[in-house]
Amino acid sequence: MKIYVSGLYAGGNPQPGLGIVRSLRQGYPDATIVGVDYSTRVSGIHFEELDERWIQRPWGELDLDSYGNKVRDLLDAGGLWISGSDLEAMWLASIFREGHPNLLAPPMRGIKRITKPAVEAAAALPIKIPTYLSTEHSDWDLHAFCRAHDWRVWLKGPYYDASRTPTWDIFTAVRGALSKIWSTEKLFLQAHVSGYEESVMLSAYRGELLGAVSMRKRDITPEGKTWAGDVSEVPPSFLEPLREMVRATNWTGGGELEMVRDASEQLWLIEMNPRFPAWVHGATIAGHNLPALLVQGATGLPASPAPATASEFTRIVLEVPVRTDFPLPPLPEPFAGAVGHSMKHPSGLTALAARLHVIDPDMLDVALDPEGGEQPSGLAALPGSFVADIAAQDFDAMETPHYIYMDTTAAGLFKRAAERALRLTTSAVEVVSGYSIKTNPDPRLIRLALDNGFYAEAISLSEVQSALEVGFRADQVILNGPGKWWPQGLMPRERMHAVFCDSIADLDRAIAAVAAGEMSARHIGIRIRTPNIVSRFGIPLDSPTTFGKLIAAVKRLPGDSAFGVHFHMASSHVGVAQWWHLFESMLGWCRSIERLTGRTIEMLDMGGGWYPDDWHEDETSKIAHAVELVHNMLPGVRQIASEPGKAMAQPSMALAMRILEIQEHEEGHVDAVVDASIAEIPMHFWQPHRMVRKCRETGALQPIGRGKTHLMGRLCMEHDIIASNIELPEGTRAGDLLIFCDAGGYDRSMSYVFGRG
Ligand SMILES: *Cc1c(COP(=O)(O)O)cnc(C)c1O
Repeated sequence: MKIYVSGLYAGGNPQPGLGIVRSLRQGYPDATIVGVDYSTRVSGIHFEELDERWIQRPWGELDLDSYGNKVRDLLDAGGLWISGSDLEAMWLASIFREGHPNLLAPPMRGIKRITKPAVEAAAALPIKIPTYLSTEHSDWDLHAFCRAHDWRVWLKGPYYDASRTPTWDIFTAVRGALSKIWSTEKLFLQAHVSGYEESVMLSAYRGELLGAVSMRKRDITPEGKTWAGDVSEVPPSFLEPLREMVRATNWTGGGELEMVRDASEQLWLIEMNPRFPAWVHGATIAGHNLPALLVQGATGLPASPAPATASEFTRIVLEVPVRTDFPLPPLPEPFAGAVGHSMKHPSGLTALAARLHVIDPDMLDVALDPEGGEQPSGLAALPGSFVADIAAQDFDAMETPHYIYMDTTAAGLFKRAAERALRLTTSAVEVVSGYSIKTNPDPRLIRLALDNGFYAEAISLSEVQSALEVGFRADQVILNGPGKWWPQGLMPRERMHAVFCDSIADLDRAIAAVAAGEMSARHIGIRIRTPNIVSRFGIPLDSPTTFGKLIAAVKRLPGDSAFGVHFHMASSHVGVAQWWHLFESMLGWCRSIERLTGRTIEMLDMGGGWYPDDWHEDETSKIAHAVELVHNMLPGVRQIASEPGKAMAQPSMALAMRILEIQEHEEGHVDAVVDASIAEIPMHFWQPHRMVRKCRETGALQPIGRGKTHLMGRLCMEHDIIASNIELPEGTRAGDLLIFCDAGGYDRSMSYVFGRG
């Protein structure tokens, strides 16, 4: 009996080859075991249990046709082959589409039905698939997905690599790198599931399940890979549908379902692998020798029994002698641009991925839910008011770069917000908004806030002055933040609507100012620091000592002002789901503060930090529910305020720019230089912008989709790239006008004068 085993990489994130070899040796002590790999850098080739080695050129250099013929000859001559690498298994399936009696790896039908993220084959198993979105959707929609899932998301390739992308800049960087490494634009974002990881390993021959075993990870490497685990039987509720799945896919070989069990015991499928897992020998130690069962199933020759020596296993690191016929190569050169562990295999798997794309373009595609609707175009549609506001501009007379004020868009946003506030107001609780002046202090926006019944929310006395200049009265001003006494001498003498103290020092200063007759406000309150989320703002309440100080401070507040509480945590940053969770926990803290201080909270201010779509499109029912919740938990609250900044300002301006130069590179690759720069669009690292080109001939606005073009700013600075991964519409040339929408928030207010002489 001769058995070929591949996948001998034995680093911290190992392939299963050595585990398979050890298990086979136990089941078939007399078999000849041949280790197959594609690089002499793979340390597993030195393992003593290998009888022979069959080392090939790396995948990028192999002549796949003649290698395929060699493998066929080995199989025809009676050799068995167990693949320890997903991509090798896929390549083998592309050659032996219906399998080969001696090839102990799945046929193409099996491979196609386990493609991530949908994993069609597992549909009947008692597991769920975490929510996902193909990266073929527009950046606008991808950003919304990340916010909705609290930025606890993974960006994954179809077969290898998964990377947490906690911010937009990391997302765009990883997307660029993964697309390049795995030769595909088709990646997907998937929601993270919190829980403990476990796996089910299976062994099957020609559609018959030969064995299966469960393993829970009990210790992991920094990459999250198994270091120790416990092994148990697969429960019948899982085993029976698994047996069906193996039959339906005509599975042959090893397989692994990687899952997470959440706090409510629900299993979530992370992925299914077409091979044994690297911990395969851990199961053999526990009496489940699945590789031997596989060989027994294929050959009919009984394997030696596998007595259990323990139900738990762990790993150790061992030194082994290097074989003199494969001396150590020199240290590899560092590879620039490597991401994740895809570069860990020296055998050129990324090159194999590129070649498999040519062999079968569908094979490496991500599998999306067939009911997921139409094919995404990758283009974000502009709202009608954007189009109208852009059409109203006289671009011929416009020097660029130039911020366009989106007149009807801005007016519409404020009007809708005002209408919603009215709708939500009940006889018991008034719902109001305060416009955050800091976000964009343009007088046109402050004016819209005034005309639509907003309060003015200021974080400095000069912002208060801006509000007063536009026509706000002092009693329509909410003063907030750590710098509220600056600049000196501008504190209004009239009574303001509300002042929130950011620290105990700030509170003491407010008390003194009120006592001295230098400041007055209808509400004086505190900003509380949200627990468990890092913030430099507000009064902390996360330890009994700090909470005690807060209570004592509140008791000192003047009794002739009403008491209010403010908290602010940007949902655009912490995520929408988490924000609502936090909101409910805040109400609990507020109740404790009321009880311990004896002061009734009359105003609750929920701060700002919403992304425009989340604020405007949020189902009114959710906010209505929140109003009800506040009313039930804090019946003294008469007014609920929120302080939208970017929700109002961001869509209200766009940045017009012109192309200075088109650069044509190899393989049709194009880059462009524009007259704008990161000085005018500084938020481009943190949020997507919906972009259009104005067609020279027709004047039409053409959406800009995704591609390989970089838009480089005019500054002579390496990092002045204001968009990457885009594709300019056909015919774009120097002098053409591009418009970046969604630039009216911090892009506008934090833009700076730079590189203008
Ligand atoms: C900045 C700020 C806001 C507005 O935040 P956005 O992210 O622009 O919505 C609201 N309230 C306070 C106190 C702020 O400092």
